[in-house]
Amino acid sequence: MSGEAPRGVPGADPQQQRAGTAVVELRDVTKTYPGGVTALDGVSLTVEQRELVAIVGPSGSGKSTMLHLLGTLDRPSAGTVLVQGTDVSRLPDRRLSALRARRIGFVFQQFHLAAGVSALDNVADGLLYGGVPLAQRRRRARRALERVGLGHRLGHRPHQLSGGERQRVAIARAVVGEPALLLADEPTGALDSASGAAVLDLLRELSGGGTTVVLITHDRDIAALLPRQVRMRDGRVVHDGARAEAAT
Ligand code: ADP
Repeated sequence: MSGEAPRGVPGADPQQQRAGTAVVELRDVTKTYPGGVTALDGVSLTVEQRELVAIVGPSGSGKSTMLHLLGTLDRPSAGTVLVQGTDVSRLPDRRLSALRARRIGFVFQQFHLAAGVSALDNVADGLLYGGVPLAQRRRRARRALERVGLGHRLGHRPHQLSGGERQRVAIARAVVGEPALLLADEPTGALDSASGAAVLDLLRELSGGGTTVVLITHDRDIAALLPRQVRMRDGRVVHDGARAEAAT
């Protein structure tokens, strides 16, 4: 891809930010696991600010591997991963962890909330990395829970919440630090269709507010509702585009 127009990324660290940089970019990325499986085979992908992208494709096509690489949880065997213009392969582990903690939020199918811990503190824990004092963490957690429509469930523990509410807590935890990028692995996979639709609405709202969202979904109905679909097969991107109606 060429022809970048200068485009700032509000909220980004100015020292790391270069004009025209995408929020996240894979350049000719290959990932081969020990044992020889090539899970990604020369994949390039650019995701700009505010995009809401669905990664789709059959099981084993490389979706999770791609999400892990976008999230800097794993390193490529070849090629380059850039987060807001920073080549993450050049960062030592500690700096990579810091970048990940500040700029990337994660949501998983099974929520991964701490059992026996209130919604408020589950979300407040999302700020542990930055050394934010507890009172401030809780204040920001309350705001994040209000933002996802759970201001009335602050003291509820995960087992007292519905699946849809648990996922909204998990999303609040992922965005409480205001990351540039939110990555979600089958966020609606464990939910009934009404709760799934509500979670999707929330992700859409977050992307409208400036957070870039990339999610994996097996659900064709959900993928069809999103403005951009990246379709994987055998470790390659076989389609990357807007759904027809979204193009207008
Ligand atoms: P998807 O998310 O689309 O199901 P994955 O990215 O999980 O696909 O897997 C892509 C390929 O890489 C599969 O063949 C899978 O078996 C293989 N794979 C995934 N993770 C590992 C791993 N940690 N070690 C070895 N092979 C792996």
